[in-house]
Amino acid sequence: MIKKILVANRGEIAVRIIRSCRESGIKSVAIYSQPDRSSMHVRYADEAWSVGPGPSGQSYLNIPKILEIAKNSGVDAIHPGYGFLSENAEFAERVRKAGLIFIGPEADAVRAMGDKMKARELMIKAGVPVVPGSDKLTDNESENLRIADEIGFPVMIKASAGGGGKGMRLVEKAGDLAAAIKRAKSEALNAFGDDSVYMEKYLKSPHHIEVQVLGDNHGNIIHLFERECSVQRRHQKIVEETPSPFISDEIREKMTKQAVAAAASVNYTGAGTVEFLVDADMNFYFLEMNTRLQVEHPITERTTGVDLVKAQIRIANGDPLPWKQEEIRKSGHAIECRIYAEDPERNFMPGAGTVLHITEPLGLGVRTDGYIYEGYEITVFYDPLISKLIVWAQTREEAVQRMKRALYEYKITGVKTNIQFLERIMKTPDFVDGKYDTHFIASNEDYLMQGDECTGECEDLAMIMAYIEHQSHTDKRLRFNTHNRKSNWKEYGRIHRFNPF
Ligand code: ADP
Repeated sequence: MIKKILVANRGEIAVRIIRSCRESGIKSVAIYSQPDRSSMHVRYADEAWSVGPGPSGQSYLNIPKILEIAKNSGVDAIHPGYGFLSENAEFAERVRKAGLIFIGPEADAVRAMGDKMKARELMIKAGVPVVPGSDKLTDNESENLRIADEIGFPVMIKASAGGGGKGMRLVEKAGDLAAAIKRAKSEALNAFGDDSVYMEKYLKSPHHIEVQVLGDNHGNIIHLFERECSVQRRHQKIVEETPSPFISDEIREKMTKQAVAAAASVNYTGAGTVEFLVDADMNFYFLEMNTRLQVEHPITERTTGVDLVKAQIRIANGDPLPWKQEEIRKSGHAIECRIYAEDPERNFMPGAGTVLHITEPLGLGVRTDGYIYEGYEITVFYDPLISKLIVWAQTREEAVQRMKRALYEYKITGVKTNIQFLERIMKTPDFVDGKYDTHFIASNEDYLMQGDECTGECEDLAMIMAYIEHQSHTDKRLRFNTHNRKSNWKEYGRIHRFNPF
């Protein structure tokens, strides 16, 4: 029985995992880098151990140090979260060699799915459809041209070890092919230490739709339906929803079956996600499998009622899955917005700074998974994701309205965020109608990029002005109103939409 877990991560996902540990009566151990010493995950865990300086290579990716902390703190298991070491097969192996439980799949499954070319081969063998594409590309330019012609332009060059959109290049015409392959190779080598690249047909108006799966150590694999993740910037998701407003029930049934087959082909255990690209005619193709908990997992939790972190812990404990496939039901509609410290007007450039003020939305059907607070200093060392806002409602229409309302309530000052950009997404007709693909942001750029009347420092200034206004006028106005005592509160509310301090 797992009694104590080291969370080898930071930020919102560390907080998320620690919460499920506490609910399960399991002790949690946080690790923190020097700039993270007062972070929320440190405060919420039962114990917190310093793992090193800011750069991840010296802290959250430092395997020997993490294993040393695991030994000294007496944990029985390690949860890797997402990112960092979560899809590092060597880490999974070393954790197990140290006599600890790795909360995740076997290293072989991580390895097989971590290599996109290997994964494609496996899927072809398992009868799961893949995007038409090539094997590993060589430096033979005429041969590469022949392959591209056979697949048909435009094509996508992709790094086999790829992730985070790195090493990916769209090639529209033959003349650009050789240079694009060269660039993709050098980017892949820099990012992953492996320059293997391959070619894929570029699907013109695809949807990114993924299926959540859970596998136990007793041969059971189930799915928990799909997530539509087509709202992306720079090939990275920012809004996810479930169910997908695009696919039919018939396609959903086929896709979820194929996802289970994909997971079964590597004897998958734990929580995983099978990603598909779906074309305009609803033909779907395996894209990749993520062998870990996904950022957008809360929308699946909200519609199925399954706590995926607790499920991961149970599976790692050796327990059989407590649900049969037919017992997994979905209800209503959930949407997640990723709140980033970034500037949409400057090509989504990540920002840093001290959080001056934060008001998180509350109310019916709202969940926030975050980790920042007033006075928190956001550094440039890590991913700019600061929080995830998840809403649920009985219908998609109500969920969109609820998300708009929640985003309206969400106030963060001191750092630039994408909150107003997300509000615009919720108002964009293509999104409201559920008629969008991965080109949504590019095709709605003019609408989405309309200047905001008041953002960032301007909003800070507005709050300071409101406070000065409050100091100099409130008393006078309230005194003026003394003949009607009841309306003083109303009057106060009219002067200040919210109290800035
Ligand atoms: P990464 O692992 O680097 O995130 P993925 O293979 O998951 O890369 O692809 C990320 C996104 O890039 C997809 O969600 C999709 O928007 C786009 N994409 C990837 N492959 C193709 C393709 N063959 N055709 C069209 N778009 C693609």
